[in-house]
Amino acid sequence: MTQPKLPPAPSDLAMVPFVSVENMMKIVNHIGPARMMAEIAEYIESDFKRWEEFDKTPRVAAHSTEGVIELMPTSDGETYGFKYVNGHPANMARGFQTVTAFGVLARVDNGYPILLSEMTILTALRTAATSAVAAKYLAPKGAKTMAMIGNGAQCEFQALAFREVLGIEGVRLYDLDPAATDKAAHNLQGSGLNIVKCTSPEDAVTSAEIITTCTADKQYATILTDNMVGAGQHINAIGGDCPGKTELHRDVLLRSDIFVEFPPQTRIEGEIQQLDPDHPVTELWRVIAGQQDGRTSDRQITLFDSVGFATEDFSALRYVYDQLQKTGHYIDLDMLADPDDPRDLFGMVRRANPKP
Ligand code: NAD
Repeated sequence: MTQPKLPPAPSDLAMVPFVSVENMMKIVNHIGPARMMAEIAEYIESDFKRWEEFDKTPRVAAHSTEGVIELMPTSDGETYGFKYVNGHPANMARGFQTVTAFGVLARVDNGYPILLSEMTILTALRTAATSAVAAKYLAPKGAKTMAMIGNGAQCEFQALAFREVLGIEGVRLYDLDPAATDKAAHNLQGSGLNIVKCTSPEDAVTSAEIITTCTADKQYATILTDNMVGAGQHINAIGGDCPGKTELHRDVLLRSDIFVEFPPQTRIEGEIQQLDPDHPVTELWRVIAGQQDGRTSDRQITLFDSVGFATEDFSALRYVYDQLQKTGHYIDLDMLADPDDPRDLFGMVRRANPKP
């Protein structure tokens, strides 16, 4: 399961499997969202364990006043992957998604793409799966309740992944917009989670062992102030993922043991952009690989300063690739020119002319 299975031969690769939004929804509903996130979590965890095999670079970001468009590439030497993703907090009010994405996997040996996939839904699945993997190592043992601040597109995925992977039993929802909380509570009906709608962030974090912040605002926001975080809590901070876009008061960071994906990227984009550039952080992969400690005491405040890293998208695409034959939910895209003689590209175009 750890290594991608490459398709047989380059000659068979004129067609590229494409997973549309419609087919991604079919895959998710075929497997079940919670099970799918637990399975993606296994891929993410196994790829974190072989972290040193990957090419790693901070994502390439094009910032504008409205948001950011980013490219997230990586390779394990055998397979190459990248994601195109945007983050536009004002989109929601305009009727668009804050985050949309698509991604590609390709063979390294001949450079041919082997998968093109929508990644808006897949990003929500992989983000929640990554959060759950981090919490497995960092949250207090036996945690039963999570506060979920920000009840937008990512919210239900986070709640279900934490139920499936961590065994969370209750979620305390809060959003500035009560309609978002109503939407999330409605969608989580029948999930087996005890859902409580809260009227303030302070109310939401009460009695929660895990606090997830998942808001979208293009500013230094303060979703959590120092007095809201108590000894022993685990913070899963999702929404601060761009320069000038954070969620936690600096004092919360100074009391926490901080775990990150790829420090060169997180120092630019994460909560830790508020700290000195040499403030100590632990790389999550080292905890997963058993090289460094995660949670070591009941009173420790642990913080997963999540920004989303390319290897997680690679793992998620790898998972989707492995589902193609099992589910059949994809179409073949005629994306690659395939002349009989590789040098006769022009001749192929000419022969296709109905009026020679
Ligand atoms: P969304 O726009 O669908 O939802 C954001 C929600 O936050 C909205 O319901 C909004 O009302 C609420 N909100 C804004 N300010 C708030 C505040 N002060 N208090 C409480 N609620 C507030 O966005 P989304 O797709 O759910 O994404 C949420 C955030 O997560 C975004 O900032 C996005 O960039 C980030 N994100 C991070 C990762 C990662 O890997 N770390 C992945 C995907 C998304």
